[in-house]
Amino acid sequence: MPTVAHDGGVVMLSPELAGFTDARFGDFTTGNVLKDGLDVLVAEAEERTSWITEFWQGVDACRATCPAFAFCGGAHAANRYFEHAGRFDGTRTRYCTTAKIALLEGVTRHVRSHAR
Ligand code: SF4
Repeated sequence: MPTVAHDGGVVMLSPELAGFTDARFGDFTTGNVLKDGLDVLVAEAEERTSWITEFWQGVDACRATCPAFAFCGGAHAANRYFEHAGRFDGTRTRYCTTAKIALLEGVTRHVRSHAR
């Protein structure tokens, strides 16, 4: 999901990252639509965007450790970054704990209670 900022900068996956900068990842942009087409930026996103590699490592860690992965998919790049001290390869966050894991547990509990 690309987000195009007011200056043409394109941030992939998490619009919440637009406008922030990081010592390792710069301004998180994949490029700028004033210079390259959005189709090119999307097609070349992984080669152009170093933080996405670290993000996929986090998704892989989620896949390996989280029972809610099939439901969640391990997304939420900005939550990983802001809740794990500027890293994308962490797993559980406060956001996913409340918005994904608790939701899944609640629905599962509800279904089980009505299946009896
Ligand atoms: S619920 Fe959290 S820990 Fe589990 S897969 Fe999603 S992001 Fe990862």
